[in-house]
Amino acid sequence: MAGRVDLDGNPINPITICMIGAGGFIGSHLCEKLMSETPHKVLAVDVYNDKIKHLLEPATLTWADRIQFHRINIKNDSRLEGLIKMADLTINLAAICTPADYNTRPLDTIYSNFIDALPVVKYCSENGKRLIHFSTCEVYGKTIGAFLPKDSPLRQDPAYYVLKEDASPCIFGSIEKQRWSYACAKQLIERLIYAEGAENGLEFTIVRPFNWIGPRMDFIPGIDGPSEGVPRVLACFSNNLLRREPLKLVDGGESQRTFIYIKDAIEAVLLMIENPARANGHIFNVGNPNNEVTVRQLAEMMTQVYSKVSGESSLETPTIDVSSKEFYGEGYDDSDKRIPDMTIINKQLGWNPKTSLWDLLESTLTYQHRTYAEAIKQAMSKTTAN
Ligand code: NAD
Ligand code: UDP
Repeated sequence: MAGRVDLDGNPINPITICMIGAGGFIGSHLCEKLMSETPHKVLAVDVYNDKIKHLLEPATLTWADRIQFHRINIKNDSRLEGLIKMADLTINLAAICTPADYNTRPLDTIYSNFIDALPVVKYCSENGKRLIHFSTCEVYGKTIGAFLPKDSPLRQDPAYYVLKEDASPCIFGSIEKQRWSYACAKQLIERLIYAEGAENGLEFTIVRPFNWIGPRMDFIPGIDGPSEGVPRVLACFSNNLLRREPLKLVDGGESQRTFIYIKDAIEAVLLMIENPARANGHIFNVGNPNNEVTVRQLAEMMTQVYSKVSGESSLETPTIDVSSKEFYGEGYDDSDKRIPDMTIINKQLGWNPKTSLWDLLESTLTYQHRTYAEAIKQAMSKTTAN
């Protein structure tokens, strides 16, 4: 760790980071990175800590004095401001961020992504503290190209689909399409942070993740989460593969996504943390434009990779179609295509993603198999016995 310098060759001084939502998927990987590769301290705030337990215990770990867990619900805890004051930088990851919740729990979604984030922004602004806030690529909504006729040649023109932080519009569906409650709440908190920067000098960075995936993402229903719960697509498809049931393709699996390996994305966040002069005042897309697939192609690739890592044969019928109404309920809608423009992050931080989709699925599904296969077998044999 000695002699670490930033992108401009200046020595990096240890800082204290108040990380809200540190016990989640992204938080757990960020904590791991900060503990193993940097001298920084983390005040880890969350209501859960299962995903960072390995970093907190035992007290003999070399970084034991650099990470402290605070079990705090930021909705209603007066200790939050004190922690933000103690830190040099606050990173806010806390959110309800699974699509199955957006149309079924729109109030919780809006409160979590907007109202609960307000005090965090306010405390940072009032106390002159830097903020890195996690937004989403979903603030772009649908692409302009989605409104062109299906056979229009313009659909092939990147000007109609590549998503640029400082140029693309935010295009959401009607209010009845409650799917957009999340995107809209995230957009408003982005605008508020931006305005705090412009009017009150808040030092901020906004991150727009484009489908970051990897180990510890979400939960496997019935094993480490509710049996009826619907996580994001990586965990849904992993669950299907582990149980040897067909992968469900919502509305034909035609939507397109770009997936990025969590470890590549965390490198970008570390650069933001350690290069404030280059990151402040910016909104950054963080994704991998080279890893684009339709959801159907993702299902096919995950089936092949899982067969390789588990040694099990693929199912005769690996996928089935399901309507979004059946799968998510009333009010679901979808982003058609998400390709991040990388110009700004490239220019400011010189960052590029590295891992191919096949490689990231191989390491992630190896983890899923090792972590869950036995537990699923036991749970399934119990159900059969009953
Ligand atoms: P996650 O659900 O795994 O993590 C969120 C964490 O926040 C959870 O541990 C949760 O317990 C905690 N939290 C929620 N409400 C809280 C509260 N009131 N008080 C304290 N803790 C609370 O999700 P993630 O994938 O790690 O996402 C982190 C952030 O990144 C979110 O803001 C999300 O909107 C954004 N994001 C992620 C992705 C992605 O690809 N993973 C994509 C777009 C946006
Ligand atoms: N999806 C699917 N089957 C599933 C889960 C999700 O077809 O079992 C689709 C979903 O409709 C969306 C895409 O996969 O088009 C990605 O969903 P995810 O939950 O990961 O979140 P999003 O990228 O939409 O934010």
